[in-house]
Amino acid sequence: MTQTVQTPSHYWLDPKACPVPAGKVVCVGRNYVAHAQELGHAVPDRPLLFMKPREAIRRFDEGIDWPEQEGCCHHETELTVLVGAPLCKANAEQARDAVAGIGVGLDLTLRDLQDRLKKAGHPWERAKAFDGSAVLSPFIPVSDVNPDWQSLKFGLIVNGMPRQSGDARLMLTPIIVLLVEISAVFTLMPGDVVMTGTPEGVAALQHGDQLELQLDRRSFRTWVRQP
Ligand code: ZN
Repeated sequence: MTQTVQTPSHYWLDPKACPVPAGKVVCVGRNYVAHAQELGHAVPDRPLLFMKPREAIRRFDEGIDWPEQEGCCHHETELTVLVGAPLCKANAEQARDAVAGIGVGLDLTLRDLQDRLKKAGHPWERAKAFDGSAVLSPFIPVSDVNPDWQSLKFGLIVNGMPRQSGDARLMLTPIIVLLVEISAVFTLMPGDVVMTGTPEGVAALQHGDQLELQLDRRSFRTWVRQP
């Protein structure tokens, strides 16, 4: 039997903005000291990178789920960067010019499974790159975002209670440098997304949780689906 597969696409806060095809998602691990410490990790000496495939992308308005047989699923609330032009071995100026939009998202992580994979020295993809693991807000065009991206604040409220609070100034590697570093390894194409790492406060999601993600003065809602 063949299954219908929907091709993920990005969406914008301003519905008149151009659609962009969805691409790969490049994620940054341990980009905030306090989060590295809460999981008992050393701070890496250069950005820790991993990827999610295009099919991992899920829109906020579709709700959240995960393969429950694998144990608990943690939220990691992250600033997201939408790439709008090809970047290959880019310099800082090229990197800055290539950013099309900024958003906020959840890097969903099957933490029990990831701990087992890490212990065994195995890759993380089963825990980090499953379908629906990159939950992305609509993107705000860069023209509507404070141009000092490192001054952006973001956060997660779960069932009305503050859960994570992020300040881009605390990133170990700032956004432009991340794009330069990433593009030295992986060519970035229009529609690719960079998830820039989570601050501390990661925790398990529960069925029915109502989530509000904040980015500066904007907020976006999603929820955990019932089984
Ligand atoms: Zn993350």
